[in-house]
Amino acid sequence: MVLALVLWGFVLLLPLALAYYYIKDSLWLFSSSPKGQSIFDEKLIINPPGETDIEIDQSKRDAVLKNSFSPDKVPDSLDAIVIGSGLGGLSVASLLSRAGKKVLVLEQHDQAGGCCHVFIDKGFEFDIGIHYVGKMNPGNTNRILSDQLTNGKLQWLSLDETYDMIALGEEYSKKYYVKSGRKKQVEYFIEQFPKEEKAIRSFYKKMEDAAKISSIVGLLKFIPKFLARFLLSSGILMWLVPNLKYLKMTVEEVLNEVTDNKDLRAVLTYCFGNYGTPPGKAPFYMHSLLLLHFLDGSYYPKGGSSEIAYNIIPTIEASGGRVLVRVRVKEILVKGGAAVGVKVSRGKQEYELYAPIVISDAGLTNTVTKLLPAEIASQTGLSKLVKKVRPGPGFLMIFIGLGGTKEELGLAAQNTWAFTDPDVIKVVEKYFALSAEEARDSSVPLMFVSFPSSKDPTFNDRYPGKSTCAIVTVTPFEWFEEWKGEQVQKRGEDYVSFKTRLGRRLWEQVCKLYPHLEDKLEYIEVGTPLSNQFYLESYKGEVYGLDHDINRFDPSIQTDLRPQLPVDGLYLTGQDVFSDGFSGAMFAGLITASAVLKKNLMGDLQRLRSKWKKLHQANGGGGEKKTN
Ligand SMILES: Cc1cc2nc3c(=O)[nH]c(=O)nc-3n(C[C@H](O)[C@H](O)[C@H](O)COP(=O)(O)OP(=O)(O)OC[C@H]3O[C@@H](n4cnc5c(N)ncnc54)[C@H](O)[C@@H]3O)c2cc1C
Repeated sequence: MVLALVLWGFVLLLPLALAYYYIKDSLWLFSSSPKGQSIFDEKLIINPPGETDIEIDQSKRDAVLKNSFSPDKVPDSLDAIVIGSGLGGLSVASLLSRAGKKVLVLEQHDQAGGCCHVFIDKGFEFDIGIHYVGKMNPGNTNRILSDQLTNGKLQWLSLDETYDMIALGEEYSKKYYVKSGRKKQVEYFIEQFPKEEKAIRSFYKKMEDAAKISSIVGLLKFIPKFLARFLLSSGILMWLVPNLKYLKMTVEEVLNEVTDNKDLRAVLTYCFGNYGTPPGKAPFYMHSLLLLHFLDGSYYPKGGSSEIAYNIIPTIEASGGRVLVRVRVKEILVKGGAAVGVKVSRGKQEYELYAPIVISDAGLTNTVTKLLPAEIASQTGLSKLVKKVRPGPGFLMIFIGLGGTKEELGLAAQNTWAFTDPDVIKVVEKYFALSAEEARDSSVPLMFVSFPSSKDPTFNDRYPGKSTCAIVTVTPFEWFEEWKGEQVQKRGEDYVSFKTRLGRRLWEQVCKLYPHLEDKLEYIEVGTPLSNQFYLESYKGEVYGLDHDINRFDPSIQTDLRPQLPVDGLYLTGQDVFSDGFSGAMFAGLITASAVLKKNLMGDLQRLRSKWKKLHQANGGGGEKKTN
């Protein structure tokens, strides 16, 4: 009898003990930090710093953003090294610094910020990669995190209530407007497409259903891989959360279920350029997150996007860390199966820098194929993972300088998405099938147009009498491949002529939308996929990291795209973890810091948000400010 009891006890306890053994390292996931032990600063909630002037002395800004590497600037006894100073890298470094860690961030470009850097040329300042960000309304979790990263110093300004315009047709004669607030947005679209009310409501409902799975997708990146794989391969997770199907359905497939109205299809897919993958290949989940991200309005950083890095860097330095630029990481040093540091080059000199934690913000493909020793990449299965995904499409950016202020030129704090044909899926596919030669004479089917200077009230003080325009479009890397071995600025006349041709054509297309700007052009520069390789160290001219296609969002690949890589002490952060975008990169920083610190920072952040809500209710305010 006793023996039977012992045996039964053993049989019952063994699986529990085994389960505990395998998940004990993940238990921190299920609780937030005990009171008083959160890394977050409640004071920023209780007494947020008010609106302040931005620093306009460029030499003071450069001292922070352009601190060049030299070995004597490397702090002693580093806790972590971050490769790349994009928002993902800066966010994780800032959060680790809040936990008292000494972090060194290394950047190959001549300034910090990655896609959030700006450049100044001939009296104009141009943003690279932040045109609008959603969810920056006070009290939103995204805003609370942004405030924590910058000690509340990064200030967000609202764009116009109608933050996007959609223009369709060869002459862009049909126009639709995207308004802040779910109710206003949906009602406006129903007004435009009265026969499609059911389709519109159904599409929004599906988007909301799809977005609900984001916490499950996040969880897959933390729970032990064997458990994630079991839940996926057994079908249990799919059964429990049927909406996971939206990871596997393309935007086009969902559209096919709701409407065949061409204009409405364009309106419901218009902003796929924000993640770069055409609707025939992108998962509905990603598209839903994006559209809903902007639903309550859009924001722009006061002072332009360099304010982001400018205000995060001091929080890293506060714990003895540093952000150093003009230094390329050449290799991640691995000893005894663990990452122990990096080898860097500065000019012809090479140095080895050591830290027990190495975090890469350089993208999965770069990290695995260029930085990790090949045998480690192969032994750990990372080489295989890289083969299952691919870099996103190349991007072309046209930087336009205009004579005249925002008021003189009548520019709105609004973006335009312009398509030469409402069948955006077909027309983009056709464009990508063209050869470079054919592209010279073809109009560009998709373009994003923004006037960054019109979103920033400080621009006119800093650059009096001037305005800027940014045009962005997708473009095949192959069109530029023949010049990939050439040195930057020395790629020769053919290259300049080709890129200028594309840039001028896009400007002509912009002038169809804004004819009064035609004679205001004072500056034009074209950035190609090769420029992205040089300035952003992108793998193949992409700017959003891995392609946001159905393949990348397959739940099993989502499980592998996790902060903790299969090498002890080595972590991934940035836009390859969740998705591109300010929020994608910032939250990647948060979950990478969570994985390093073994603290549920998301839980702590939610607690901070509850505190914000309580405070505001006590002060007679409502909850988080949203637009109707
Ligand atoms: C044209 C454009 C428009 C965009 N518009 C918006 C927008 O309106 N709203 C929005 O939310 N998002 C937008 N984005 C996307 C957003 O900016 C990015 O998704 C996000 O900033 C990416 O951050 P990251 O840290 O992942 O990577 P990155 O910003 O790419 O940073 C990676 C950094 O690592 C460095 N690096 C790589 N390898 C090495 C190495 N070996 N050694 C040293 N350094 C290295 C690179 O130089 C780079 O600075 C836009 C991006 C672009 C380019």
